[in-house]
Amino acid sequence: MRDLLTGVTQFQKNTFPKKKSRFEELGRGQSPEALFITCSDSRVNPELFTNCEPGEIFVIRNAGNIVGRKGEADLGMAATIEYAVKALRVPQIIVCGHAKCGAMQGLMTPEAVTSMPEVGKWVSLSKKALEDLSVNPHVDRLTQIVEANIRLQLRNLMTFPEVADAVEAGSLRLHGWLYDFETGKVTVLAPEINRFVDCNVRIA
Ligand SMILES: [Zn+2]
Repeated sequence: MRDLLTGVTQFQKNTFPKKKSRFEELGRGQSPEALFITCSDSRVNPELFTNCEPGEIFVIRNAGNIVGRKGEADLGMAATIEYAVKALRVPQIIVCGHAKCGAMQGLMTPEAVTSMPEVGKWVSLSKKALEDLSVNPHVDRLTQIVEANIRLQLRNLMTFPEVADAVEAGSLRLHGWLYDFETGKVTVLAPEINRFVDCNVRIA
């Protein structure tokens, strides 16, 4: 097993000195560009694939990037959304699912998680995603579920009054992303066609 404290020592020696002024600046406060909701999966590293520096994204992670509806979401999720929108006034919320998501695999095949009742209960919060799989017949079933779950969580975010109010006021935008860690590619949900498209196409 790798000793993670060795990594801390290397960070203090090599990385921290190069970013020292940035960390000092952050001591005066944070003003992140986005609330970024993604999966806990170790293969997904949002700061890495968005090329973000410390202070730029405010992150919530759980198995399956599940938000849940207001009242159904866990307290940590609800409180962190409230803080991001009301105190930090983030201008965007990104729900980012990913390829080969184990949580969505558990939603697709519940019998695989019968020995993990908490996992089963948690992923079942996304079961409505299973009713929304016909939008993109060109991708495999698991990817369709990952995409449908992103759309579901974007709808769930709108059940939080502070989110709905800020979207209505034009000060907050919601985005759905899908990250493929094997290729580094990100596709983004294009609401006008309800499909995920290459992020470079969206930028162009
Ligand atoms: Zn996942």
